[in-house]
Amino acid sequence: MLRGTDVVINTGTTPAIPDRPGIAESRSWTSETILQLERLPHRLLILGGGYVGCEFASMYALFGSQVIMLQGRSQLLPREDPDVAAEVAEILADQGVEVRLDARATAVRRNGDGEVVMILEDGSQVAGDELLVATGRAPVTTDLGLASAGVEITERGFIRVDDHLHTTADNVWAAGDVAGTPQFTHASWNDFRILKANLDHGDATTRGRIVPYTVFITPELARVGMTETQARAEGRRVAVGKIEVSAIPRAKTLHDTTGTWKAVMDADTNLILGAALLGHNAGEVISTLQMAILGGLRYQQVRDAVLTHPTMGEGFNLLFDALDDQ
Ligand SMILES: Cc1cc2nc3c(=O)[nH]c(=O)nc-3n(C[C@H](O)[C@H](O)[C@H](O)COP(=O)(O)OP(=O)(O)OC[C@H]3O[C@@H](n4cnc5c(N)ncnc54)[C@H](O)[C@@H]3O)c2cc1C
Repeated sequence: MLRGTDVVINTGTTPAIPDRPGIAESRSWTSETILQLERLPHRLLILGGGYVGCEFASMYALFGSQVIMLQGRSQLLPREDPDVAAEVAEILADQGVEVRLDARATAVRRNGDGEVVMILEDGSQVAGDELLVATGRAPVTTDLGLASAGVEITERGFIRVDDHLHTTADNVWAAGDVAGTPQFTHASWNDFRILKANLDHGDATTRGRIVPYTVFITPELARVGMTETQARAEGRRVAVGKIEVSAIPRAKTLHDTTGTWKAVMDADTNLILGAALLGHNAGEVISTLQMAILGGLRYQQVRDAVLTHPTMGEGFNLLFDALDDQ
């Protein structure tokens, strides 16, 4: 038994496997186990069109597999704006991925010859050589004795923490995925900065923190701040800027012109609320915009800034010059 004055729970998440007949016996893969695959499957089925599903679909299609991805909902990446998600679907399709929306699997079976078959709600079937189940991740909280320690969990099963990452039990803290933090390594690392301060009697908080992320499809989709959907749901007057990546000189020189950049502004304050950059090196370039948001810059200041030519970042001059006030 180990004892301490403070305890930090940081047990992460694990792949959530849906309860469907045959799935447990189907020798399917998760995002963790598929890394052990020794041969490229000729036909890869992917169940789930979220971030993990899209990343593996893009990767395996570019490796040369025939990929069929089933998404139970009407758009891929449901947390993204519909226009952004539609563009991702189009890019995946161009890479050879067969994207099936509103396609819900009800059962799975592995045939004697090794073929794996998914049976869909409408009675149709889809067959492949391997199946990747990418239907989300569940917090790891079992067998920790949380209830007896007075550590509450939320309705979704994550450890309940306040904005100091303190749980409902004295001197017990939680960090990372299991604490309901956005599921990214950099967010988990940031939790540790907060905890380090608070364990030293500080007052660090997760409140108002901006957590950007990148979906590593090809090309990358990088996101920061609010989507247009979120901004409108807050009742804001919104301005949207949108450009094709092909308009950015650097993309032309690289012959890598796929994608679209989109920025969302508050039309009353001119502050930048968020962005979705889909295109070459988007994961790098998004940090620039994050700094602008953190610094409270108005979009015109970024539009009029002198940015190095030819770089992808130069695209911000164009993006903030292409506004559609609504
Ligand atoms: C396929 C995939 C791709 C991803 N790509 C990215 C990416 O590109 N960028 C990004 O930022 N994030 C990415 N993520 C998310 C990122 O991996 C997680 O958000 C991050 O690892 C969370 O860190 P954590 O410290 O909360 O938990 P984890 O890194 O999951 O660590 C938790 C640890 O606790 C251990 N543990 C669990 N229970 C116990 C126990 N009872 N006793 C002892 N140890 C225990 C586990 O074994 C594990 O090692 C990806 C995730 C997946 C699945």
